[in-house]
Amino acid sequence: MNPVKRFIAGAVCPRCGEMDCLRSWRDEEQLYRECVRCDFSDAQRADGEPSPQELETRVNKVEEKPADPDAQPLLFHPNPGGSRQDH
Ligand SMILES: [Zn+2]
Repeated sequence: MNPVKRFIAGAVCPRCGEMDCLRSWRDEEQLYRECVRCDFSDAQRADGEPSPQELETRVNKVEEKPADPDAQPLLFHPNPGGSRQDH
């Protein structure tokens, strides 16, 4: 059977950066995404389904933030005079 591919409203393709060009569909095991503008596609496990029995312990998801692009771990201090050579 053919999966139903639906466009994701507002989704931006991580490769070409176009909006509303990602389609998503799923099968029994995985979620898929693909871009209609470029060759981007990926798949991830569809573990988001609710379990039949509720667990008492709540697991808080911690979102990992990407590294700050402005934060530079090393600062270069170029020597304006260059290496002096006594000649
Ligand atoms: Zn794309």
